[in-house]
Amino acid sequence: MKKGVITTNPLRIRIPRTVEHVHNYGKISRYFRELAQHRVLATSCVNPKCLRPKTYLPPRADCPECWEPMEWKLVGSDGTKGKIATFSVVHYPGAGYEEDIKRVGSKLPSIIVYVEFPGADTKIMSRLENCDPKNVFIGMEVEARFWKNTAIRQRATHTCLDLYFVPA
Ligand SMILES: [Zn+2]
Repeated sequence: MKKGVITTNPLRIRIPRTVEHVHNYGKISRYFRELAQHRVLATSCVNPKCLRPKTYLPPRADCPECWEPMEWKLVGSDGTKGKIATFSVVHYPGAGYEEDIKRVGSKLPSIIVYVEFPGADTKIMSRLENCDPKNVFIGMEVEARFWKNTAIRQRATHTCLDLYFVPA
């Protein structure tokens, strides 16, 4: 990849960098292992003494209210269907984003969505594919998809790029 000007209006420049990043997922390692098995898991606080027990997706290892360990669970009917809570259409991506979506066979403009799953108290950020940006709307029913074992990619990345959504 060469350094230099990509476009002049808007001005976009490429600055190649090489950085090796070792990331430890710790107690939420299971979330990324399950994504590679085509499952989206949330975590719930099951402490009966918790004042505000919630279900988190993306998961949290320990409850932010009572600090007790959380329990893993599927949300919704089968853990794959939700609704768009909000979205944004990306025309001018930040550093690395365009390369990331190219790796999974996607392109710009890209639709970033926050998906609300039944039974989850938080929303998960991801991308919406197979949808014209003109047709996306808040409340649209969507379904989780996984890149592993597709024509695009056989192996999991063990990152949030392993998951995306399509209109249901
Ligand atoms: Zn709790």
